[in-house]
Amino acid sequence: MSKRDYYEILGVDRSASQDEIKSAYRKMAFKFHPDRNQDDPDAESKFKEAAEAYEVLGNDEKRQTYDRFGHEGMGGNGFSGFSSNEDIFGAFSDIFGEVFGFSAGGRGGNRPRAGSDLRYNLEISFREAAKGAEVSIQIPVEVACDTCSGTGAAPGTQPQTCPHCGGAGTIQQAQGFFRISVTCPQCRGAGTLITDPCDECLGRGSVIKDKDLSVRIPAGVDNNSRLRLRGEGEAGINGGPPGDLYVVIRVAPDDVFERQGQNLIISREISMVEAAIGHRLEVPTLDDPVNLDIPAGTQSGEVFRLRELGLPHLGSSHHGDLLIEIKVKTPTRLTDRQKELLTEFSEIEQEEAGKFKNKAKDFFKKAKDKVMGE
Ligand SMILES: [Zn+2]
Ligand SMILES: [Zn+2]
Repeated sequence: MSKRDYYEILGVDRSASQDEIKSAYRKMAFKFHPDRNQDDPDAESKFKEAAEAYEVLGNDEKRQTYDRFGHEGMGGNGFSGFSSNEDIFGAFSDIFGEVFGFSAGGRGGNRPRAGSDLRYNLEISFREAAKGAEVSIQIPVEVACDTCSGTGAAPGTQPQTCPHCGGAGTIQQAQGFFRISVTCPQCRGAGTLITDPCDECLGRGSVIKDKDLSVRIPAGVDNNSRLRLRGEGEAGINGGPPGDLYVVIRVAPDDVFERQGQNLIISREISMVEAAIGHRLEVPTLDDPVNLDIPAGTQSGEVFRLRELGLPHLGSSHHGDLLIEIKVKTPTRLTDRQKELLTEFSEIEQEEAGKFKNKAKDFFKKAKDKVMGE
């Protein structure tokens, strides 16, 4: 992708004065500032582009090189623009200080930032998922250290201004022809160093504590259901809002019911005779057992459906169904008497089948005669 002309980006003439360039950039930065354009995905790249243009044109030496050699003169790898918005805020803190009221010394290290979201995996029983539950969990959270009030410095002492960067949090570093701003390696951008760290938090300013939280599990949750606990994530930085806590559910399997979405499935065996003449079966539900009448002539593998006896749908008064799969058991060990009865049963069956066959023959013969007679 070819790079746009820096003058074009800032919308100024090639003969523009330093003041005009600064003023043009300030307008651009204000217009495309990422905090003010959170739903415009292009704003951030325009913001970065303008910062890069200003870094060159706002500096007489770099501007002269650019005027003579164009983008090629900017040193290829030597100049690669800014890697992050933080760098931009730091490099031009004089401008952002004026426009946005940010602290002029910081590189954004003092800007409020939202805390991260946290994830907690919670295993619950099948019954808790079916009926809903209130579960208490402990999550480790980072909280400001009481001993040093979050400063990280031992009580009675103060963090010292970083001697390496003079409190700016950034230092100028040579890259090719130019000098660019990078985060101070000594204070990591904080601008201060702790010479006498707090014993409690070892200078971090925060400690990890277990926090008790009560989680309300709605009835009907399934594996991987995510519950969001607003504001229970990691604490924000410099007064930024806290993140959220996501509780990710795992439901333990049940030894009675198999689950398929909000439907429950069980399978029940009945005898050959019960299948043939009909049977009343008691089946378990999430509450009390109910009776299911299996009609005469039920085949193995047939499924009966009891509506609304499954799991509740989340946020609805409806339930899934309870499905009962019937398996017909063939007897394996018969007494002589049973064998005798079944043999007799078989003979009657064949007799009946024969009668049917003759009847059918009769029927077709009559039909044929009728057609031939006409
Ligand atoms: Zn402390
Ligand atoms: Zn420093």
